[in-house]
Amino acid sequence: MHELGIVFYIIKDVKTAALEHDVQHVNAVVMNIGEVSTIVPDYLTDCWRWAVTKEPLLEGSELLINIIPAVTHCDACGREYETVRYGKKCPHCGSDQTWLLKGNEVEIKEIQV
Ligand SMILES: [Zn+2]
Repeated sequence: MHELGIVFYIIKDVKTAALEHDVQHVNAVVMNIGEVSTIVPDYLTDCWRWAVTKEPLLEGSELLINIIPAVTHCDACGREYETVRYGKKCPHCGSDQTWLLKGNEVEIKEIQV
């Protein structure tokens, strides 16, 4: 249950932010989750629903997930392509000198109070 660890991490961050801004209750937390991060969104929201029952600050709050599409950059031809569709090999020039530009995010985008 990798997702449960992530949920505790999110809760800790949200609590810190709430304390700094004198927030008493949070309605929703919006997450940016990369398409090729190892997170399964459904597991994450399940863990969230369970975990927030123990947190007065977050009781009844929703975890909203914004999926960030994965994009890979190719160093050989300088172009970008969809990671999930083509993998490590550039569809434009066939090079494997490629690296993930985005799509691995696990970050809090917004806290709604
Ligand atoms: Zn290329």
